[in-house]
Amino acid sequence: MAKFNDFDFLHHEKLDEGLYRVFEDWGGPQLIDIYVVIGEDKVAVVDTGCGATHGLRRYIETYITDKKPMIALMTHSHPDHIGGCTLFDEQYIHPVELPQLAWGLNNKRRVHDAATFAFTGMPGSKPHGDLERAMEIWKYCEENYVDVKWKEIDWKLLNDGDVVDLGGTKLECIYMNAHGSLVFYNRERDYALCGDNTTYTLAIGNITQDLIDRFDRYLAHFTDKTMFYSGHTYYEDGVTRPPELTMDMMRELVDAMRTVLAGGSFPDETAPEHFVVPGAPTLAGYTPDPDDEESWAAMRASHPERKGETPKPGPRVVHHVGPILFTYAKG
Ligand SMILES: [Zn+2]
Repeated sequence: MAKFNDFDFLHHEKLDEGLYRVFEDWGGPQLIDIYVVIGEDKVAVVDTGCGATHGLRRYIETYITDKKPMIALMTHSHPDHIGGCTLFDEQYIHPVELPQLAWGLNNKRRVHDAATFAFTGMPGSKPHGDLERAMEIWKYCEENYVDVKWKEIDWKLLNDGDVVDLGGTKLECIYMNAHGSLVFYNRERDYALCGDNTTYTLAIGNITQDLIDRFDRYLAHFTDKTMFYSGHTYYEDGVTRPPELTMDMMRELVDAMRTVLAGGSFPDETAPEHFVVPGAPTLAGYTPDPDDEESWAAMRASHPERKGETPKPGPRVVHHVGPILFTYAKG
């Protein structure tokens, strides 16, 4: 008998007229944030979680809207964002993501990621979820994951400047390659759905002038009042995070990048723990391997702009910028 229900891992909140955030919450400190935008003609689901259970679409139809069609817009192809894409009627992605779909949509990888989010998944934190529960979740997901035949998906491609028209609601596509490829901007309501490019848990490689220039060009698309909605939320003792990131926070983040590039450092810098849990060989067995040449080769091929940045996670540090937990390569 299954101990869990597909809906046990999902909850949601309303953010704006026609905008909802669904949390994929595996019980660990980091949550996966999925956005539902309701237009007059169709519904966009921006990122789709791990696809480690079948529940996402039924959850949206039960608690938010059953308007059809429902299309999936991907910010990038990492397993925790793309896994549920085939639950929806159409799938949209930026072409740079195509070479690494085998990695992002791998069934075992996505189930593993859900279990990882159940007990850790936070850079800089020791695993402190409930390991026993994580193993139960893993078992449940291994029996209930979305079986994705990734080669059979009929992808529709979105490029910088394209507009997704949902009927009365338009989402502009902005190409931003820091951790991901697309950000979806509702200019009328002045909010951006950012995936992991503008997120509470921003993780990038080396900080280069080119990266800083990219952030400057990216932020120039928005206004001083734009609300940036993150691809992840995380729990930290005693900290309440606002529902959105602001332009002021983003400017502070880019200033921190300039400080790092100039050789500066921050008093709170700590080295992140890798996702290996002592005493949990089964979980560790699926741990993404930083020396997995094939995965990293696909990553490099799909993100040509990142050539100057460290393709492998070398020495990394974590630093708080306001509510943002910022992880980057250093040294
Ligand atoms: Zn992510």
